[in-house]
Amino acid sequence: MRRAVVLGGSIAGLLAARVLSDHADEVLVLERDDIAPSGLFGSGQGPRPGVPQGKQMHALLDGGRRRIDEWFPGFATDLIADGAALADTGRDLHTYVGGRRKVLVDGVEMISATRPLLEAHLRRRVLSLDNLHLVHGRVCGLAFEGDRVIGVRYTGTTTDARDEVVLESDLVVDATGRASRIGDWLREGGWPKPATRRMDVDLGYTTALFRRPEGGHDTTLAQSLSTTPDGRLRLSTLGRVEGDRWIALIAGYADDRPGRGSDEFLLRCKEDPAAAFRQLTEDGELIGEPASYGHPFSLRRDFHLLDRFPAGLIATGDSLASFNPIYGQGMSSAAMHASCLATYLKSGHSLRDPAWAYFKGARAVVDDAWQTSTRSDLRLPHVTGPRPRGFKVISRLSDLVDRASMTDPVIHRRCLEVTQMLSPAKTLMRPGMLLRAAWAVRRQEA
Ligand SMILES: Cc1cc2nc3c(=O)[nH]c(=O)nc-3n(C[C@H](O)[C@H](O)[C@H](O)COP(=O)(O)OP(=O)(O)OC[C@H]3O[C@@H](n4cnc5c(N)ncnc54)[C@H](O)[C@@H]3O)c2cc1C
Repeated sequence: MRRAVVLGGSIAGLLAARVLSDHADEVLVLERDDIAPSGLFGSGQGPRPGVPQGKQMHALLDGGRRRIDEWFPGFATDLIADGAALADTGRDLHTYVGGRRKVLVDGVEMISATRPLLEAHLRRRVLSLDNLHLVHGRVCGLAFEGDRVIGVRYTGTTTDARDEVVLESDLVVDATGRASRIGDWLREGGWPKPATRRMDVDLGYTTALFRRPEGGHDTTLAQSLSTTPDGRLRLSTLGRVEGDRWIALIAGYADDRPGRGSDEFLLRCKEDPAAAFRQLTEDGELIGEPASYGHPFSLRRDFHLLDRFPAGLIATGDSLASFNPIYGQGMSSAAMHASCLATYLKSGHSLRDPAWAYFKGARAVVDDAWQTSTRSDLRLPHVTGPRPRGFKVISRLSDLVDRASMTDPVIHRRCLEVTQMLSPAKTLMRPGMLLRAAWAVRRQEA
């Protein structure tokens, strides 16, 4: 491949660029924010406008961490040296359900850091690749010739750079995120739009940073799932991050969403049945105001269902699927899509044909993550569906496994492997697993 162009220089775009650098003479990453090392947002000191979720808590699951460490050996070690925390589930990840702590199982590791730090480390590694360059500009559409995409149309970001320029490319990778306009770009070229599937979850997210005093409590990562007296599910998560701080997140659904003010945030922490959140309000010192974010629905674009698609184009990351963020799947999914891209490029398929083999591989990744998150979402009373066939049975079996995971280490480990994107969701429904879960619940009730 002579040149590949990646649209969007966030997590998915950077990981795709890393893979492409092994296969193309030149890789260009086209990004609307000025993320060059000397640019406005190059230092990674804070969130940037192109990634509005950047102020919210982000944890890197083990599935993503392991893949990124393979592409960039020492990635996790460098992050930790910069103040990020590595949480081993057996020691540091405390999961509470209704205030009761789940049995601890070790060997699964997550990274807790602010989103700008994670992205800055990845960007530094990717930009050090010899054949990779950043282009600062805004994508306006695709350039087509016959049955293929031959490049991308973009403009500069200043008022005196409004003329469209075409950047020719052998492969264009759309990584412009959840709000990608890929469907419109395809339609402009006379191609069908991919069908979209959405799951309305109506989630409200609020994140706040706290200073971590010396000698205060030593929580690295804690998660608390609780139910309010009127049956609403709440999630709180707390993680140690760089700069001797904690990041804390409170999430609620429908009209139970947390408000913006610091008083309400602190009140929700004090009300939380898990002690770590009450301690946070005693030991920690709130920095600035909490930041809120709404996630009305999860969304996937089903490219694999199209009957016509141009050669020279793929999509990755949130542009392909964006999930309920409480499961933390987004960055690890992006890493797995990048793995699918590597497999596709190594398999020697011609770039003159549509990339169906890539979309087939990525579909399996999306299906699995979608199943894990929507199966839980559909158990929420306000989420209306659509519910897949056999949902009632699956939901009862999932309840059984969840209950068993409170006390049974084997079942909790398998649940962690699935939620951390190390094993497929179907492994939880194997007969041996279900039998063990039934015994564990029986013992709990005895
Ligand atoms: C509230 C919240 C919390 C989350 N928490 C987690 C978590 O804990 N763990 C986790 O793994 N994931 C989490 N995610 C998901 C995660 O943020 C994304 O999955 C991840 O950033 C990968 O996204 P992406 O690179 O595909 O897109 P994005 O990060 O959205 O980036 C898209 C990029 O494209 C650029 N762009 C867009 N349009 C154009 C254009 N026209 N021209 C040029 N550039 C353009 C943008 O500037 C941006 O840089 C969370 C998401 C939300 C909303």
